[in-house]
Amino acid sequence: MRKNIVAGNWKMNTTLEEGVELADQINSLLQGKEKNCDVVICVPFTHLTSVNAVIDPELIGLGAENCSEHEKGAYTGEISAAMVKSTGATHVILGHSERRQYFGENNEQLLAKTQKALEHGLTPIFCVGEVLEERENGTYNDVVASQVEALFSLSPEDFSKIVIAYEPVWAIGTGKTATADQAEDMHAHIRKVIENKYGKEIADNTSILYGGSCKPGNAKELFAKPDVDGGLIGGAALDAESFMGIIEAFN
Ligand code: PEP
Repeated sequence: MRKNIVAGNWKMNTTLEEGVELADQINSLLQGKEKNCDVVICVPFTHLTSVNAVIDPELIGLGAENCSEHEKGAYTGEISAAMVKSTGATHVILGHSERRQYFGENNEQLLAKTQKALEHGLTPIFCVGEVLEERENGTYNDVVASQVEALFSLSPEDFSKIVIAYEPVWAIGTGKTATADQAEDMHAHIRKVIENKYGKEIADNTSILYGGSCKPGNAKELFAKPDVDGGLIGGAALDAESFMGIIEAFN
């Protein structure tokens, strides 16, 4: 069956020293605690190796926040999937709305990044989600379906390695959360879209996380929904106690 996952997305926050301290705090808080979900922290590229050195891989998975669609070569400033993997990372966030919006990442490029991540043994956390206008004009189901369908040239074996994160863009960093019912409706829709292409078994086994102003105070209600398999957490992942509060929503 699919896994419950709570993943943090640190974005462009923390210096190296602060990041290592935060990872160390999360690791200590998790020690000896019972948890009913996998925990992943996705951190800036510069922090990966140092964070890897202070976390227990049995307790916490490590992820990057992006990777290149290219294998290697003359792409100044880019970081390849192989480089990410070589730090000890296990996951990579791809297609975050901030990457789509500010860096113009499109479906074709995101498919190529996903393929590179999979080739190098990383688990992609693939983000999808509609903007406010699409929520308001009622096109949100089609918008999100087409973002998921961008991956449909993957083989069933490859697709089954992907984690999906539904993040309504209007709820990211805004303090506005989708209601648990809105999240459930979209997650069930995404699962149906996957089922139509890859069949019920793969759809049922795909973890679909919710992201967008998820906090200790609302995580329990969101995670109680049958198709919500955890969260991708931005702001609240930057505080070890808040992040733990969200992890404990599964207890
Ligand atoms: C995110 O950016 O992935 C996110 C969910 O952010 P926040 O929790 O701050 O809304």
